[in-house]
Amino acid sequence: MSAPAVWTAEDTEDVRCCLCGIPGTLVHDVSPFGVVRCPRCDLVFISPRLRPEALQRLYDDAGYFEGGVYGSAVSSADEGGTASAAGGRFSPAMVLQKTWTAGRLRLIEQTLGGAPTGGRLLEVGSGYGLFLAAARDAGWTTSGVELSRTGAGHAQGTLGLDVFCGQLEDAPLRPGFDVVVAWDTVEHVPDPLAFWRTVRSLVADDGVVLFSTPYVSSLPARLLGTRWWTLKPTEHIWHFTPRTHALVAARAGLALTRVIRSPLAPANAGRLDSLVGIARPIPQSS
Ligand SMILES: [Zn+2]
Repeated sequence: MSAPAVWTAEDTEDVRCCLCGIPGTLVHDVSPFGVVRCPRCDLVFISPRLRPEALQRLYDDAGYFEGGVYGSAVSSADEGGTASAAGGRFSPAMVLQKTWTAGRLRLIEQTLGGAPTGGRLLEVGSGYGLFLAAARDAGWTTSGVELSRTGAGHAQGTLGLDVFCGQLEDAPLRPGFDVVVAWDTVEHVPDPLAFWRTVRSLVADDGVVLFSTPYVSSLPARLLGTRWWTLKPTEHIWHFTPRTHALVAARAGLALTRVIRSPLAPANAGRLDSLVGIARPIPQSS
């Protein structure tokens, strides 16, 4: 079933801050949704937001990834050699996708101290599987989790990847991953604190977590308000700053150790309103 073009209040539910358990204060009215900020911790989130069953309809919609940078990249990849043989269409999305993938794989190696690849890598929100396939080619033993049946189906069928279709907490995964990555995912999850706690339970004590996400303290977000192109209140239901990321991560047992905001960094290339974060497990004893 396709997601409807117009959502109504009946498709929505009220939510509270995942850290403080209190309602937020309205920042922007984007009816039937609201952009709110927690008066205690400053976390920005959507309330009312789509109910879980409405969200699943959105992600199952075959058109969900199309038009976005991932969908365009997949279309280009699927056309493969025929497109270039026919004169080749320049696809900025494809170039960006390749730049991010290479930059992020290099960042993982740097973060692990130049250790050779070959450990276990989990990608949460693996989409069509483009990053996961590149990680596998780089020598990682890969696993993926993806909510969208369209994305997971492509990753499993076309790319032959080990991808579980469903919620992270339901995935039959063996803990102890050397690397867990979540590219543009945490802004979509129902409860970021629960999400990071599950990630913490899956990453090895000496492992590392890398993620990317839009951030609400970025210049475009602050200048554009409700016209910010990444606001997307149906899908992006939590909005962080480096400070609120650190708060949520710490509560989940992860220390946010590095934040990359430059759009010149290959891992974050061309993204004026997004950051790449690196977090490590906080030792239990401290
Ligand atoms: Zn709060």
